[in-house]
Amino acid sequence: MGKGSPRDFKRQAGVALKDPALRIALGRARSGFVEKRTQARRQLPEFDRLCAAATRVRDHSIDHLDTLLVRFEQEVLAAGGQVHWAATAAEARQIISGICSDAGARVVAKGKSMVGEEIALNPALEADGLTVVETDLGEYIVQLAKERPSHIIAPAVHKTREQVAALFARRHEGPRRDLSGIPELVDEARRVLRRAFLSADVGITGANLLIADTGTSVLVTNEGNGDLCATLPDTHVVIAGIDKVVANATDAATVLRVLARSATGQPITAYTSFFSGPKRAEDLDGPKHFHVVLLDNGRADIRQGRYRDMLRCIRCGACLNHCPVYTAVGGHAYGAVYPGPMGAVLTPLQWGLRESRDLPNACTLNGRCADVCPVHIPLPALLRQLREDIHDAKVEGRMQRWLLGRWVRLALQPDRYRRVTAQVAGLLRRLAGARGRVSRLLPIPGWGRGRDMPAPAGKTFFQQYRTPSKSSGDRS
Ligand code: SF4
Repeated sequence: MGKGSPRDFKRQAGVALKDPALRIALGRARSGFVEKRTQARRQLPEFDRLCAAATRVRDHSIDHLDTLLVRFEQEVLAAGGQVHWAATAAEARQIISGICSDAGARVVAKGKSMVGEEIALNPALEADGLTVVETDLGEYIVQLAKERPSHIIAPAVHKTREQVAALFARRHEGPRRDLSGIPELVDEARRVLRRAFLSADVGITGANLLIADTGTSVLVTNEGNGDLCATLPDTHVVIAGIDKVVANATDAATVLRVLARSATGQPITAYTSFFSGPKRAEDLDGPKHFHVVLLDNGRADIRQGRYRDMLRCIRCGACLNHCPVYTAVGGHAYGAVYPGPMGAVLTPLQWGLRESRDLPNACTLNGRCADVCPVHIPLPALLRQLREDIHDAKVEGRMQRWLLGRWVRLALQPDRYRRVTAQVAGLLRRLAGARGRVSRLLPIPGWGRGRDMPAPAGKTFFQQYRTPSKSSGDRS
């Protein structure tokens, strides 16, 4: 699993719900991430104020994107690096392919990068005959399993330890080793990845932030693999979306303080690295050649429209960890690069409404994602807006469109609406009987399956509204 399409969301979600190993893996991850974030928030009394400050920083970045990016480019050039502008994923692949070819590369060591996933970089480089090795442990596991990451900060969160041990035993060469515990698994991956670091001609990393006034790419990791990708090979390529820019180091620090806490509950990640160009004469290490590829891929259009708030996203993953849908079906069910609530907004904007029409509709609108988003992205409001866009574009399912049409006609006739809702409420009460719950809603197949609905209250809202009360008198 892991290579589907957003179009198949319903089927993929059904398969995921029946996967017992996935249930175990997601259950562990859900409790871990949520509890750690809660603790981190509790330990920092000014957390909410910091989130408000981070929101202002990101808004300022999006408002001044053009000037900040130009400044960033100037600073990278002044430090001896090169900046490449990619309007589309295809252009970005072409640029990176060209850099690897100029470097005479055979082996590429890659750090974790969701933008790399977004542009499908690995298949393109492999088609050029390059060996691409993912060096983040989670990314390495999903690469070995030929899957997509299922979480934006924990790519292999869907796998149990036993599944990873079996994967390593199957795919790694050499004599059998003890893979029974997490330290053994980490040692095993380290043994393989060390060779990749030492033989790589090009290192490719993502960037969590780009600092405009110093031309610095900021990368946060917990494994240190990003630093090895950036410093050991002769050529370092940074790939980042244009939305990642911030004005200065103070703004970057504000975002970093909420990023790790929201993501993993850490005050700060184990490694926070700053790359500002190729190796200088006085440096002990660093690449000879330094490139930054800035990807648009629809971001400039999003900036102009109603979904502009989405560009504030700092890819912390908190909305995924707190989403009842994501934590039930996992990331692969979404069939896209970005899963969960943030993916349900981004995917339709990048892949089109028809292809992704089920993603915004998968949301329960419970609002937890917006509550935990450190940069206050109104995800439920954006998802509701997308539902409207899907309806206006007439790309929803035929049954859904028919039902909505009927509902609108009914809602526009108040007397009939009240009569019908009172009749349906009475019917549901009779079906519920003494148990007080309706367990089968036959006319609504998928939605009704697996749900128990409480019996409606004794009277509808309008019936209660019209009942004279002692204090208010007759309202009719
Ligand atoms: S939408 Fe908010 S919570 Fe979700 S990944 Fe982005 S910043 Fe984090």
